Amino acid sequence: MQSLGHIVVIGGGIAGASSAYYLAASGRFDRVSLLEAEAQLAHHTTGRSAALLIENYGAGPVRPLTTASLDFFHSPPADLVDHPVIEPRGIMTIATRTADYDLLDEQLADGAHIANPVVELPLDQAAEISPHIVFGPEHRVMWEHCAHSIDVAGVHQAYVRGLKRAGGEIHTSRRVDAARPSHHGWLVETTTGDLQADIVVNAAGAWGDVVAVAAGIAPVGLQPLKRTAFMVASPFAESASFPFVADVQHAWYLGPDGSQFLCSPADETPSEPCDARADEVDIARTIDNLNVHTRLGIRSVSSHWAGLRTFAPDRAMVIGPDPDQPNFIWCVGQGGTGIQTSPGAGRLVADLTTTGTPSAHFAETGLDASALAPGRLR
Ligand SMILES: Cc1cc2nc3c(=O)[nH]c(=O)nc-3n(C[C@H](O)[C@H](O)[C@H](O)COP(=O)(O)OP(=O)(O)OC[C@H]3O[C@@H](n4cnc5c(N)ncnc54)[C@H](O)[C@@H]3O)c2cc1C
Repeated sequence: MQSLGHIVVIGGGIAGASSAYYLAASGRFDRVSLLEAEAQLAHHTTGRSAALLIENYGAGPVRPLTTASLDFFHSPPADLVDHPVIEPRGIMTIATRTADYDLLDEQLADGAHIANPVVELPLDQAAEISPHIVFGPEHRVMWEHCAHSIDVAGVHQAYVRGLKRAGGEIHTSRRVDAARPSHHGWLVETTTGDLQADIVVNAAGAWGDVVAVAAGIAPVGLQPLKRTAFMVASPFAESASFPFVADVQHAWYLGPDGSQFLCSPADETPSEPCDARADEVDIARTIDNLNVHTRLGIRSVSSHWAGLRTFAPDRAMVIGPDPDQPNFIWCVGQGGTGIQTSPGAGRLVADLTTTGTPSAHFAETGLDASALAPGRLR
């Protein structure tokens, strides 16, 4: 089959790494180059997530990408990882007031259709498996027992290893500043010199629209939203097996992480693309909330950070060729599910780039590629 030449993937987070891996594995390119502006891959949102795989989560059109990713997570390629990359982790969603019951019922209805349906858990059972939560008589609990925590670094490393094994190149500290149409492809201008490419993939996360504009392509309206996270010590002798617990209104969530708990206000503060920082006021407000709803008795935090979850206006991802420049491929708008969808998203980028349609791998997932295509936003 004729080679499709040189493809340049912009952005070394989970979206760029998974895309570059599946593109290289397709065997359709002479050269696959992954370019990352920072000195290290995964420096931005990918290195700052809560590392969860929740099937009952994310915008409707995105959910088939999670389904299409499950085989990778359950049986990762043996030559790329030598340990499991996911671990079972139950997830509890709590309505703490009668005013929140409708929302909980909506989520129970959504989660009734996944392979391992969510259920409503009686309060006494919820209290037994979550000794760190203070339950009241008005509380109602949704239980998703088949969720998992993800070894994000292990998954990202697997893509990097697979890309290198297939002959791909990785260039860090190499920011793309502009791309101009040239020789039926692109002249890509970077901080360390120009590159000639046949196809460009935009996996620049929060900078997705910035990169598009720098290539003369119309933006799709991406909005980065800041989310804060912090770690606190666990007062329990053994809490590593406790479930992850979230307020149904997304006022807070927390989950065990070794001998600590990862906590978040589940905030969504609009931001410019940047190296996001946590705000102490958000952390203080969340501690007050968690000290009402949990038995953690938080007095101090051991570390804190923030990351940008970037959404398209309809909160579905943007994956596929640009309608005006088909050799400019979008893979952005990963929002809050970029890790758990990364095998599916990377594979879809490779399918759409090499054949124009999703492969048989997506047959049973309910994927509607047009609901993710950039053209829907023009
Ligand atoms: C607190 C928090 C909790 C989360 N929890 C989960 C979770 O439990 N499960 C889940 O699936 N997802 C979760 N997410 C979301 C997930 O982390 C993101 O969807 C995902 O990491 C986005 O990956 P990305 O590759 O698109 O972006 P990024 O990781 O930000 O990567 C984009 C990369 O592009 C590079 N770049 C930008 N411009 C250029 C340029 N011009 N040239 C070269 N490189 C460029 C950047 O430097 C960056 O490294 C969470 C996010 C946060 C913040």
